[in-house]
Amino acid sequence: METQQVCILGATGSIGRSTLDVIAMHPDRFEVYALTAFNNIDTLVRLAWESRAQVVVVPDQVALRRFTTLWPAGRSLPEIRLGQQGLCETAADPAVDTVMAAIVGAACLPSVISAARAGKRILLANKEALVAAGAVFLDAVRSGGAQLLPIDSEHNAIYQCMPAELLGQVAEAPHPAVKKLILTASGGPFRAMPLQQLSSVTPEQACMHPNWVMGKKISVDSATMANKGLEVIEAHWLFSMPVEQISVVIHPQSVVHSMVEYVDGSVLSQMAAPDMRVPIAYGLGFPERIHSGSAHLDLAAQNALEFETPCFERFPALRLAFEALGTSQEACVALNAANEVAVEQFLHGKLNYIDIAQVVEKTIDRVVGESFEPLSTLDAVLALDEHARKLAQQFCLHP
Ligand code: NAD
Ligand code: MG
Repeated sequence: METQQVCILGATGSIGRSTLDVIAMHPDRFEVYALTAFNNIDTLVRLAWESRAQVVVVPDQVALRRFTTLWPAGRSLPEIRLGQQGLCETAADPAVDTVMAAIVGAACLPSVISAARAGKRILLANKEALVAAGAVFLDAVRSGGAQLLPIDSEHNAIYQCMPAELLGQVAEAPHPAVKKLILTASGGPFRAMPLQQLSSVTPEQACMHPNWVMGKKISVDSATMANKGLEVIEAHWLFSMPVEQISVVIHPQSVVHSMVEYVDGSVLSQMAAPDMRVPIAYGLGFPERIHSGSAHLDLAAQNALEFETPCFERFPALRLAFEALGTSQEACVALNAANEVAVEQFLHGKLNYIDIAQVVEKTIDRVVGESFEPLSTLDAVLALDEHARKLAQQFCLHP
């Protein structure tokens, strides 16, 4: 068996570190070729040292100097590449077989498209790239001959439950046997909080997810259910399913990771402990199954599994995503960009929790009333993304 050379985009994050955990369990199968980080260069030094990465990518000269200064004596430095260009070059590097896309936000777009054009196996944890540029990204996957494996736990679950003939390829049309995709959502930390208390919740409360430990942005998105909204759009692109055939159900235990309902009434689900190493190991090992290090489920010891319909009054961000998907790609770009800006402002204490969805809605409304060049290229998507971010910044000042 040849060892796979792996590049981890966003190695210092929650998904990046879980990926390194799984890789470390299988030294015969995987080698770390490249790691990237945007901040937290100290952690990058440690991870690159431990994994013997040959290449690292950092954002700028300041980070490069810090990396060089912190690198311990006794072993030569890895090659250090810089910025967005370094990310794109590394994602397409001929030495790389597999790219884990775990940079948070639309910032992942250029490098993940570069990996797609170069025909890599892409383990897609990032969801914002598909939300902003689904068509452009999937075109690059098809024309580059890349293999796309969803790592987001819901999409990984659906992938595992889809008809076997779809495995290993990107669906071109809705599968006639599939009636509906059912995404599960935990409901986050505010599922049962009285509505009037939502206006005073803090970033710390929003980041305290009941079942998963994740990066800050996705944690806030889970509290607002913007995360599930982004995942509805992600599912639309990954499985070529129209919005009417995608639904969301709250399942507070996070044991059933999502479901596929077939025309005969069968519903298939994938279950596992809430541990991202399970979908990561699925992607790394595909088509084989490999150990993930996760605890295994003990269903008899598990309390009841509950399911309930989400309330749009509590979770307006979820409604906005369904509406944006039904409206246009421009609306989806605006939704994602405005949400990234608003969450950042909320995390810095500059925006009220309930104003996150307000800012997103105002930005979408403004953008769909304007006209833009068709979103058929990465540059066109990035230009609209930039424009929507500026609008959202303004709306954050007066939500
Ligand atoms: P995180 O915040 O923990 O890590 C993000 C990583 O991206 C870090 O390595 C950071 O240095 C890097 N980064 C941040 N901004 C960057 C920029 N502008 N340019 C280049 N690199 C940048 O995030 P995470 O929780 O690991 O999530 C990563 C992605 O995976 C997100 O898109 C998230 O929605 C998705 N995801 C995460 C989980 C989870 O359990 N954490 C589950 C499903 C999907
Ligand atoms: Mg998810």
